Amino acid sequence: MAVDHSEKYMVVPITRREDYSPTLWSVWMKPPEPLAFKAGQYVAFGVDNHDKVLERAFSIVSSPYEAELEFFIERVPEGALSPQLYELQVGDCVFMRKKAKGIFNVDAKSGHPQHFLISTVTGIAPYISMVRTLVRDLKEGRLAQPFRFVVLQGVSRSDEFGYDRELLALAEHYQWLTYIQTISRPWEDPEWKGERGRVDDLIRKYADKLELTPETTTAYLCGNAGMIVNARGILRRGGFEQASIKEETYWPPGEGEVEY
Ligand SMILES: Cc1cc2nc3c(=O)[nH]c(=O)nc-3n(C[C@H](O)[C@H](O)[C@H](O)COP(=O)(O)OP(=O)(O)OC[C@H]3O[C@@H](n4cnc5c(N)ncnc54)[C@H](O)[C@@H]3O)c2cc1C
Repeated sequence: MAVDHSEKYMVVPITRREDYSPTLWSVWMKPPEPLAFKAGQYVAFGVDNHDKVLERAFSIVSSPYEAELEFFIERVPEGALSPQLYELQVGDCVFMRKKAKGIFNVDAKSGHPQHFLISTVTGIAPYISMVRTLVRDLKEGRLAQPFRFVVLQGVSRSDEFGYDRELLALAEHYQWLTYIQTISRPWEDPEWKGERGRVDDLIRKYADKLELTPETTTAYLCGNAGMIVNARGILRRGGFEQASIKEETYWPPGEGEVEY
């Protein structure tokens, strides 16, 4: 008989799925009871595995104002859970924790007017939630003074951005938002006209160009552990205090090191 996980988990159906590349996709899910969360937080979910739930943390892409939860997921070929999640289609369910967690939120404490949000691939997820939430708060008059948001995303090939159309459209509409994309394997993407190289290579360039000074800016690093270590070093050498650098590491440094 199947074990009852209902004390800790809700059973949440997938309502929609969109694939971007052979390893990257988004899913939308409709929880049976609302999940309270702040933009930038994550929630753990997974599948039943020998009477336990095999679960991992996933940053929430959707804004707390949306009715459904949205996630941007990468299939790690040798991973325990992500290949199983990849098989799930609309109508299938996951076991989801009833509580969201995390402190990777917009820094409202320092008073910094500028936010430099740096990510690799699915590390863009919390920034989408933050941007959507800001847009809604501005529209509905809960925020008078928009701050400046500079989002930098690095991927291998241009089919891996996932949310580029949304971010480009918003950046065209809102002056407070800048979106910079870079790809690290331009030889596989001959049509690509944008920035090339890894995100770390662009941090100094855009910090200087856009005057993202340590005195006025909070930096955010999300995704690949190797990128986070390098980017932190670059920012620290550029004068950023550790307190002005927020980090969300998707897996422990030194483990599963991949090109980004
Ligand atoms: C706070 C937080 C938020 C996260 N948000 C997301 C998210 O929004 N989307 C998302 O896809 N993942 C996210 N992750 C990563 C996710 O929790 C899992 O680690 C990932 O899905 C792999 O799980 P797995 O069971 O398939 O692999 P595992 O069996 O756990 O790991 C296999 C190996 O792959 C490494 N690894 C883990 N993730 C990756 C990766 N992306 N690329 C390369 N190697 C990796 C591991 O360190 C390990 O060496 C987040 C992690 C944390 C801690």
